[in-house]
Amino acid sequence: MTIELIDKPGSPDVIPRPDHIITRANINEAALKVLYRLKAAGYQAFLVGGGVRDLLLGREPKDFDVATDAHPEEVNELFSNSRLIGRRFKLVHVRFGREIIEVATFRGTHDDANADQGHIEDGMILRDNVYGTLEEDAWRRDFTINSLYYDIRDFSVVDYTGGVADLEKGLLRVIGDPAQRYQEDPVRMLRAVRFAAKLGFRIHADSEVPITALGDRLEAVPPARLFDEILKLFMSGYAVETFELLRHYDLFRFLFEMTDDALSREEHDFPHLLVAKGLANTDDRIAEGKPVTPAFLFAVLLWEPVRERALELQAEGVSEIQSLQIASEAVISAQVKRVALPKRFSLQTREIWVMQARLKRRNGKRAERLFEQARFRAAYDFLLLRSETGEDELLPLAEWWTDYQEVNPDNRANMAKSAPLGGVKKKRRRRRKKPSQGNAE
Ligand code: ATP
Ligand code: MG
Repeated sequence: MTIELIDKPGSPDVIPRPDHIITRANINEAALKVLYRLKAAGYQAFLVGGGVRDLLLGREPKDFDVATDAHPEEVNELFSNSRLIGRRFKLVHVRFGREIIEVATFRGTHDDANADQGHIEDGMILRDNVYGTLEEDAWRRDFTINSLYYDIRDFSVVDYTGGVADLEKGLLRVIGDPAQRYQEDPVRMLRAVRFAAKLGFRIHADSEVPITALGDRLEAVPPARLFDEILKLFMSGYAVETFELLRHYDLFRFLFEMTDDALSREEHDFPHLLVAKGLANTDDRIAEGKPVTPAFLFAVLLWEPVRERALELQAEGVSEIQSLQIASEAVISAQVKRVALPKRFSLQTREIWVMQARLKRRNGKRAERLFEQARFRAAYDFLLLRSETGEDELLPLAEWWTDYQEVNPDNRANMAKSAPLGGVKKKRRRRRKKPSQGNAE
């Protein structure tokens, strides 16, 4: 196979204002202010990245990033409402109310990678803070469609890498040698999947092929960065498609190993169904503008390993509540080694799981006490999800709690009084058949 490398520096294509659809009316005011003020101070200023990509696709951008030749300190001086932030690279955040515009100085590429091994480890770039020109900045970005610049001087779009043509073709293409770029930063593989799912784009064959072999490079990515990336993967409204693609490229197991193991033992859509339904709920909520929480997301993604461990413990005579407590603790502490789910979320995730057992015991004052707990609603939603997948014949229990919330509050005590004592009888899990869908195409 010949690889057609996208790394031929040269003069860019410049698409003049009349030949593209970006209008200032669609760019948010804060971003425009930043661009104009940089320009007035004599600097180059461009909108870049997802903002330009989404505007050219006629979509509403999630955020706006600005690229400039001004150095971070110079940007910081220009805007009183700004602050320097130093994550992997030095950036400036300019704040307008709730809006934050990220301003980055053009960065150079590492052609001298061999000369300075200090910042490279196993092919992975550890530091990447060399300033460069617009052209260099364009070539070090991840995908051609993410490397388009909207020039505030004349409102043209500047394209060094063929991004406009790829946008038109619906093609996601890594800039440069894909295997090398993935090795430099393995998160780019996750980003490929994320954009493919979100935009409905195809990953170019050359960019697609190395992914399977390089998935294990994700093990070297710091757990905190993986957590950030997972929120973007699963809480941007395209979680179902993203999940299917992560599985398709065998990347999911480097994020959720225990779940992936459980999924590989899949029978008649279990436990795949719960994950797929849970993620579909998340997507629906986002589409409706409702809030979603990482606590619920992780409850969904890690339920099967927790459920299996809890069942093993119950077979040894441990009570259901206790088995869930022990299994939750074990699964969370194994998971955070790979993905740094912050404690404030993992505590809630565990409450959601343990409440699955408590929700069965509804007599006397118990129902009321559960109902008043902060995590009740999330735990109820989770119970509903489990019941919808046919797990443990939980439907009557879920319906009882639905009624409980809907009846006149005066009737709740009566419901609790006549509730069955130990909860629903445990039966063998009913397995539902549903043709599986090959979504990964
Ligand atoms: P989103 O819609 O999710 O914000 P985005 O493309 O804007 O998508 P960001 O994470 O905001 O993604 O990054 C902004 C831009 O920075 C990208 O479009 C890309 O040009 C560049 N970039 C981000 N991450 C990387 C990376 N790991 N390697 C190379 N370039 C990157
Ligand atoms: Mg962005």
